[in-house]
Amino acid sequence: MRVKASNNGKPEGALRPEEFPLGSPESRAAARMVAANRKDRRRRIEFVSSVRIPWHGGDSDPDPENLANWPEGQPHFGPWRDFGETLFRDVYRPAVRLKPGEPIPSCSACGTPFQKEKDYPGMAYYAAACLDRHDPDRRSNTPPGESR
Ligand SMILES: [Zn+2]
Repeated sequence: MRVKASNNGKPEGALRPEEFPLGSPESRAAARMVAANRKDRRRRIEFVSSVRIPWHGGDSDPDPENLANWPEGQPHFGPWRDFGETLFRDVYRPAVRLKPGEPIPSCSACGTPFQKEKDYPGMAYYAAACLDRHDPDRRSNTPPGESR
């Protein structure tokens, strides 16, 4: 992977907030620049499925993930994969079809009850309602156990 170089040959984002006095405008500007460079603005596509289908990839896929890393009954987010202009990831959202009177399952990780999504004749479709809580991209915004 190539690193873009700026005018003086330093890689972009090389300006470090800690090079300036704490809390100074320069320090804060450098921190904003670091954050902006970190943010990847490419289009992101998620393939959300109620079936655990971790990426099997091609020969070039080095990712060691397998089914064992995708525990049943709790949402799981695969890593973002680079498809050039687009980033793609697999998302496992557990779901079940229940007959009337059958117990509604909960997320095996956080205990949030599954939510009813759809009624069918003689059964209903329930799915995990806590994706945000387990999304590594959003986890920092939502402390565990705190509802939105
Ligand atoms: Zn959960």
